[in-house]
Amino acid sequence: MTNASNHAVRQEWLNARRVAVKIGSALLTDGATGTLKQAWLEAMAEDVAALRREGRDVILISSGAIALGRGALGLPKGPLKLEEAQAAAAVGQITLGHAYQAVFGERGMTVAQVLVTPGDTEERQRYLNARNTIETLFKLGAIPVVNENDTVATAEIRYGDNDRLAARVASMITADCLVLLSDIDGLYTAPPAQNPDARRLVVVTAITPAIEAMAGDAGTELSRGGMVTKLAAAKIAVSAGTHMVIASGKELHPLKSLNEGAPCTWFLAAASPVTARKRWIAGTLEPKGVIVIDDGARAALQSGRSLLPAGVKGVSGQFERGEAVIIRDEAGGEVGRGLIAYSAEETARIAGRNSMEIQSVLGYAGRAALIHRDDMALLRDLG
Ligand code: GLU
Repeated sequence: MTNASNHAVRQEWLNARRVAVKIGSALLTDGATGTLKQAWLEAMAEDVAALRREGRDVILISSGAIALGRGALGLPKGPLKLEEAQAAAAVGQITLGHAYQAVFGERGMTVAQVLVTPGDTEERQRYLNARNTIETLFKLGAIPVVNENDTVATAEIRYGDNDRLAARVASMITADCLVLLSDIDGLYTAPPAQNPDARRLVVVTAITPAIEAMAGDAGTELSRGGMVTKLAAAKIAVSAGTHMVIASGKELHPLKSLNEGAPCTWFLAAASPVTARKRWIAGTLEPKGVIVIDDGARAALQSGRSLLPAGVKGVSGQFERGEAVIIRDEAGGEVGRGLIAYSAEETARIAGRNSMEIQSVLGYAGRAALIHRDDMALLRDLG
C-alpha cells in the first residue's frame, strides 16, 4: 500500500470535469541553475494525458518565465527590479512555452499559450473574450497554458503571483476544481518545520481569521506566493463555486497521486455551485445601477422567473443595455444582480408597465423581460 492510498480520494476531485492546475516556478525550475526540470514536466504531461483520457478538460496556469529568464540572462540571485523581472519574463516565457509544446506534443497533446493581465479576467468585455477563447481551445482539444503577461503588466495592474491568477482563471472558466501544487502538501496549523505539533488541515469550509492566522508568509525566492496568496486564491475560487486543493508537487506525478488520495488540504465551495454566467454576473461585474422591485416581483424571481417591467418601482444609476445592475426590494435589501436588457432611460419609461406595452412606449419591440432569469444571480443562490 502506498502512503497516498491511506487517504480517501474526495468525491469533489473524482467528479471534477473541468480541472485547473497551478504549477509554480519552484516545482518546474531548478532554483540553483534557473533551468527547467524536464523530468518533472514530463511526468506532469503524463498525468494531464491521463486526466484527458478520463474525459476532463484541463487548463494549466504555469509560472516559470521569470525563473527561466533569470537563468538564461545570468541575473543575480535575490529580488529583481521590476524591469529586470519583466525582461527575464520576456526571455523565459519563450523557453517555457517551447518546453510545454515539446513535452506535451511528444505525448500527442496540443498546448496553447494564453498570456493574461488582471483586466482580461476582470473587465467585462475582455473577460468574455478570454473565456470564449479558452472554451474554444477546450472544444478543439487543446490544453491552455496560462501565465501572467509579465512583460507588459505594470506593477499597479499585475497579479504578481500566479495563485490568485489561477483562481481568477479557474472561476472565469467555471472550473470544478483548482489544484494549487505547492512545495508543501497543504495548510498547516503552524509552520511544520518549526513546530512539531503542526497539523495539516484536511478540509476547510470557511476561511476564518483563525485560518488566515495559520498562513505565515512562506514565499520563496522563485515563487511570489506563500500561503497568504494561496488563501486569497481560495477565497476567489470558493466564492465562485470552484473547489480548491493545495497538494504537494514536490514528487513526480502529483496529479496521479491526487487521484490516489494523496494528503492535501481541500477548500470546499458552497454546496450549490452557481452557473458560469451567474458567477460572472455576481462576482465580477461592477453594477451600474439599482432596480427596486415590489414584493410580487421578488416572489416571482425567487420562484425562478424573470423580472418583468411591471414589478419595477424605481430605477437609479446610469447604465446601458447589457450592463449589470443590483436588484433591491422596497425595504432596500439586495435580492440579486443581473444584466439588464434596457438602458436606464428606457427602464424608467417602461417601469410598472405591462410587457405588452413596451412596443407602444418605446417605439420598438424589445425583450419582454427586463432581466432574464438566465442573466440573473439571486443572492440566496450564491451563499
Ligand atoms: N508569472 C511569474 C512567472 O512566470 C510567476 C509568478 C508566481 O510565481 O506566482 O515567472
